Amino acid sequence: MINNRCLIKSSNFQIFKLMPLLLIPFVFAACEKKQKYANADEANADFEKYKVHFIEDLWKQYPGWATSAGFHKYDSLLVVPDDHFRETEIEFVKSHLNKLTDFPVNILEANNRIDYYMMRDQLSAIRWSINEFKEFEWNPASYNVAGSFDAVLNGHYEDLELRLLSIGSKLKNVQAYYDVAKSNLTPYLLQLIADPINDTTKRAEPKLKPNRLLVERAILQNHGALFLIDSSLIDSINKSSLDQVKKVQLIADAHLAAKSIGDFINWMEVEMLSQIDSLERVDYRLDKNLYKAKFKHDLQAQAEPVKIYWDAIKDKKSVHIEMKLLADEIWEEYFPSESIPDDSLQEINLLIEKLSINHVHRDSLVTSIRNQIADLEKFVTDKNLLYLDPEKPLLVRETPVWMQGPAGASISSPGPYDANAETFYNVTPLTNYSNESAESYLREYNNYTMQILNIHEAVPGHYTQGIYANKSNSMIKAILGNGAMVEGWAVYVERMMMENGYGNNSPEMWLMYYKWHLREICNTIIDYGVHVEGWTQEKVMDILVNEAFQEQAEAAMKWNRVSETQVQLCSYYTGYKEIYNLREEMKNKLGEKFNLKSFHEKFLSYGSAPVKYIRMLMLEEAE
Ligand code: ZN
Ligand code: ZN
Repeated sequence: MINNRCLIKSSNFQIFKLMPLLLIPFVFAACEKKQKYANADEANADFEKYKVHFIEDLWKQYPGWATSAGFHKYDSLLVVPDDHFRETEIEFVKSHLNKLTDFPVNILEANNRIDYYMMRDQLSAIRWSINEFKEFEWNPASYNVAGSFDAVLNGHYEDLELRLLSIGSKLKNVQAYYDVAKSNLTPYLLQLIADPINDTTKRAEPKLKPNRLLVERAILQNHGALFLIDSSLIDSINKSSLDQVKKVQLIADAHLAAKSIGDFINWMEVEMLSQIDSLERVDYRLDKNLYKAKFKHDLQAQAEPVKIYWDAIKDKKSVHIEMKLLADEIWEEYFPSESIPDDSLQEINLLIEKLSINHVHRDSLVTSIRNQIADLEKFVTDKNLLYLDPEKPLLVRETPVWMQGPAGASISSPGPYDANAETFYNVTPLTNYSNESAESYLREYNNYTMQILNIHEAVPGHYTQGIYANKSNSMIKAILGNGAMVEGWAVYVERMMMENGYGNNSPEMWLMYYKWHLREICNTIIDYGVHVEGWTQEKVMDILVNEAFQEQAEAAMKWNRVSETQVQLCSYYTGYKEIYNLREEMKNKLGEKFNLKSFHEKFLSYGSAPVKYIRMLMLEEAE
């Protein structure tokens, strides 16, 4: 996972819908616009200026996003997500989509062209999420002020006292924020309670319903927010050198804000959970069309979801074949007195279980991860795979409580404005785990797969990619980063490291790599299966445990995640497939001139753009 920047992704799906009406004026306008620029240089120069303006407007519209990107002009603002705010969003989208038509995209230089597409895609995604997806109506977990406060409170870009003053202004809006959260969610709740036969005032059937898991996550994470405001913030206020009057006032405001958060938590517990339980309305599945649209907006992949799904099914089969060969190779070493079982999945599973016993102690999870990073850096450099910037630190830390969710590890990369800030490797400690579930978790993240995890999250995965992205000279790509490219890269480098002999090419390491990779493949399979094919929990657990060899705890967590999210689980495999295919395509094209290190550095130099657009540029340049 990458950090929780607002990653709303998009496509031109809405634009196509409007085409028939706009066709004539559009063509007319396009001719006129082309004449506006005497040459490409002029158009590019103007577009550069416009991008700056676009970003200024974006930050004005989304101050919380601005703060997390490292742009601190609007730190004192906390947006209240009411109807009026959504109207201003739609206005923002309209005016910039309109402005984009001023530019003749085909004569823009390649990098600007990608920026153009990404801006257009982002705007359509925002509009789609407001008009179609409507998360604000049904997802209580979309309401949490912690991110907005944490970025200011714990970002060290200016003196604590100045940051506390920004926080002081934000605090004043917390009550309104949670009042609006409740009123946004209430129609849904009423609808849950309403008698569907006799109630004629019923709104359109909701596409998604607030299920128990989402409400529970919202409760947990808002408890994190409560702690942040009621404890961390108040500590910081006391430690600061603000005068006493100011301190007293800030602390009073913090208590009021904390009370609003507490009320919201209470409201969710009393109103939402009881209704959901009594009605057993827990359907969280998207219908096929909504899924397809979300896939398009979020991933910006070349292929349709159904194609990716079938690719994944095929890959699952071939990975099972590879694993069987590896298992046969080492069977005797681990089971000298037993013959190989007839069922090959059982054979593989027995070996994986044996190998998984090698794991760290539950209390040394964070330290052991910290120690492994240096080894990975050495391997990447020795094998000449990629340049690593030695100046950029990676800090391994326990995941802050307000961020704790279903994933066990994540990276928080610095935003494009504070490219020199630290990158955090967040590891969720096993503090609240029983001995049994800690053991299950640790077997899943055993000494083999722990290395793959670190490749994925840190070197040369998310951490390394994030540093390249910040160095790429496109602000647009840094800001509107594509999740499938980001996850796809992390998954691609797992394979790439193995191909280059990581782990001494031992069958054990390969076997465990495949087990890990099966997880990524199955993420796609179950996401599609659950949301489009309506798979049950039993079916999902069966695939994860018996065909992907996962521990119960891991599989159960995945079931929760697939119930709380849609499409995101597909980003890993989808992006991986596209990057891997692109590399093979470039190998074929360049023949002997192909160099792996140059390919990686070139690929990353474009920033976090959708793979399909990077591919377009790399192929053009190879011509
Ligand atoms: Zn990841
Ligand atoms: Zn153990």
